[in-house]
This record gives sequence, C-alpha cells and structure tokens, in this order.
Amino acid sequence: MKKYSHGGFSGKISEKVSPHTKTRVSVYHSEQAGFDYSDGQRYTTICEDHGNLVTTPSQAHARSAAVNPSDWCEDCQTAGKTRTENFTEAKDVK
Ligand SMILES: [Zn+2]
Repeated sequence: MKKYSHGGFSGKISEKVSPHTKTRVSVYHSEQAGFDYSDGQRYTTICEDHGNLVTTPSQAHARSAAVNPSDWCEDCQTAGKTRTENFTEAKDVK
C-alpha cells in the first residue's frame, strides 16, 4: 500500500485551502495517521484551522468533504453565518 506523508505528516494525503471557507483542510489515511478507523471509515478529513474532523469510507468522499468544510465543521458554519450577517448589514446601510 502507498505510504502517505504529505508535508512530512505520517498518513497525510493532501492539504488545500477551501475556496468556500478559506480554511486549511487536510485529508488523511486514518490507519497510517494513527486515527481510529474501527468503524470502517478509512479516511479522515480535518479542518486544520478549527481542529474539527469528519471520517469517510473512501478517499473520493474525503476529498469531496474537503472542498466545503462548512458541511461538517461547526466553526466554519458559524464563521459562514457571521460573514452572511455582515454582508446583510452592509446592504442595509445603503
Ligand atoms: Zn472549520
């Protein structure tokens, strides 16, 4: 099996900045990274800026979860709401 070590982190497959939340999101191979995968969720996607994570059964799922962490990261959801509120306030001023 391929050994992942993106950026020198054991089990790390990739790290990208989400275009939606502007946070750094990493995909890990759960077993190689030493994460629990006893539920069969072999891949883990982590919002590095907030420390929240979601586990997925395939790398394709993990990568799609990484595109928009506000689907599963509570802190990204809160930040997104704050941005929307600010935008609404700015419009009201006009
Ligand atoms: Zn987040």
